[in-house]
Amino acid sequence: MGAAQQPTYADPAARERALEQLRRMPPLVFAGECDDLRDRMAAVARGEAFLLQGGDCAETFEGVTAENVRNKLRVLLSMAVVLTYAASVPVVKVGRLAGQYAKPRSRDTETRDGVTLPAYRGDAVNGFDFTPESRVHDPQRLVDVYHASSATLNLARAFTTGGYADLRQMHEWNKDFVKNSPVGVSYEQVGGEIDRALAFMDAIGVEPDAFRSVDFYSSHEALILEYEHALTRVDSRTQRSYDVSSHFVWIGERTRQLDGAHVELLSHIANPIGVKLGPTTSADDAIALYEKLNPERESGRITFITRFGADKIRDLLPPLVEKVTAAGLEVAWVCDPMHGNTFEASTGYKTREFDDVIDETRGFFEVHRALGTWPGGIHVELTGDDVTECVGGGRRVSAEDLATRYETLCDPRLNREQSLELAFLVADMLHQ
Ligand code: PEP
Ligand code: MN
Repeated sequence: MGAAQQPTYADPAARERALEQLRRMPPLVFAGECDDLRDRMAAVARGEAFLLQGGDCAETFEGVTAENVRNKLRVLLSMAVVLTYAASVPVVKVGRLAGQYAKPRSRDTETRDGVTLPAYRGDAVNGFDFTPESRVHDPQRLVDVYHASSATLNLARAFTTGGYADLRQMHEWNKDFVKNSPVGVSYEQVGGEIDRALAFMDAIGVEPDAFRSVDFYSSHEALILEYEHALTRVDSRTQRSYDVSSHFVWIGERTRQLDGAHVELLSHIANPIGVKLGPTTSADDAIALYEKLNPERESGRITFITRFGADKIRDLLPPLVEKVTAAGLEVAWVCDPMHGNTFEASTGYKTREFDDVIDETRGFFEVHRALGTWPGGIHVELTGDDVTECVGGGRRVSAEDLATRYETLCDPRLNREQSLELAFLVADMLHQ
């Protein structure tokens, strides 16, 4: 079986040149960092920590600016503070960034006004502009992905260790919008309480480094096999292979075939990995995937990211969790409340209802609470900007509002306010 969802390049020599460049590049992440994240994911699987994973559906080369990356980090860190503080649970922070440039598509082509062209497959493969030139699959874009990821990661590392993530600054992060938003007011309250706690620590002479920097990891869907393979290296310490394009990679719902090439490739790397599981997944499928991807049963290796839809999760998740648990498999269970809840608004925009996102998340918590298993985290599509792509939320974005600021090239993302609102609601769910 050929690998699913791969680009088709017209010029094999150009493809080989690009891959050769990638093979010579230094790693974007280090094996030891991947091991650290695997340990943290093991804590998630054991019920001792919570995963917050989020970012764009599709990053774009144009989006690699200081402002855009900072805004995304800011919203993720704000959410993490809310979750950590309000629920007193350690939060593992993983960006869906620095590599999230390739998209699986349900159709190979797109037709507009009678013109049919290859579908946009993410900046890793072709351009978004609807012209024949732009839609050509260009292997040199894989090298561009490497450089864009490197720049993003460099900035993320600087922001998360260089003082920006200092808890004393958390007021500053959302200062511009707290005044006129209910969730902003709640955020300020948390900030005030944390300030008092910090002042107390200062007074008694305690000043842990943890207040000044945060551990932050990168992740993306491992879709383009040649790219991931070219960036897979044997670690000299352990002789194990790591995909050094990202700390964490996942297999998408469309490429999780047990005998498929994606599962095969990811079975050979030591990084912590995820598998998206949609509503057609049987418990036997999930168990077989686990056995193939983690035959040694290493802790923290496997995260199952369920994305069933708000209307299905309460029926479909229980048998899955029950059987996987009964098989003795330790996994981190994570909820993607986005991909099962996408629909087309009357105005033609692809969107999601904030209430459906919340409802699926609530269903996820209910199921795990009922079974005595740990709701290990959330995986969300979000942006730090005040876009209008998902409807609902405290500010009640309507179907008509979608046109105001609809910027995603792929799936609709929660905006900053909706993301923070979600964080408060999840903190409540964790608390119960
Ligand atoms: C995605 O995460 O953007 C995506 C395509 O998800 P899924 O594989 O779950 O459909
Ligand atoms: Mn998506």
